[in-house]
Amino acid sequence: MRDCGECNVCCTILEVKELGKKFNQRCPHLCERGCGIYETRPAPCREWFCVWVASDAPDAERPDRSGVVVEQAHARASQGRAGVMPVVAYEIRPGAFASYWGDKLLKRLARKMLVALVPHGAEQPSRFMGPPDQLRADVEWVRAPTRE
Ligand code: SF4
Ligand code: SF4
Repeated sequence: MRDCGECNVCCTILEVKELGKKFNQRCPHLCERGCGIYETRPAPCREWFCVWVASDAPDAERPDRSGVVVEQAHARASQGRAGVMPVVAYEIRPGAFASYWGDKLLKRLARKMLVALVPHGAEQPSRFMGPPDQLRADVEWVRAPTRE
C-alpha cells in the first residue's frame, strides 16, 4: 500500500453509522495528522478499500488531486462473482469525471471492470461503465437486492 500523503477524501466520503457520520460529511475525528482515533476507528473505516492506494496509478490520480475516488465495491456486489470486479467511483468535485485525469482513470478501469459512477452531490450511482459484453448483466446484478 502506498502513502496517502495529504489526501483525506475517504474521511469525508465514507458513511460511518457508528459515529453518526453521514456520507459526504467531514469526520469530526479527522485532525491535522489524520485520524484522531486510528487505533479504535470503526469497521467501515477499517474496511474501506481505496483503489488508488492499492495501485501504481499516477500521483495525479490521487483522489484529492483528481477529484475522483474509487472504492472496491462492497461485499454484496462482488459476492459469488468471478471475472468482472465492480468498483464505485465518486465525483468529489463538480466536473471531475470529465477532467483529463478523471476521464483517463474511468476509461482505464472500465476496460476490465464494472464501474458504478456516483456524480458530485449524489449518493447513488447514476451511470455504469465497463466491458461492453458484460456491462448489462453486471449492472442488473449489482442493482439486485442483497443476496444472503
Ligand atoms: S481516499 Fe484513498 S488516498 Fe485518499 S486518504 Fe483515503 S485511502 Fe488514502
Ligand atoms: S474515524 Fe478516522 S478513519 Fe474513520 S472517517 Fe473518521 S477520521 Fe477517517
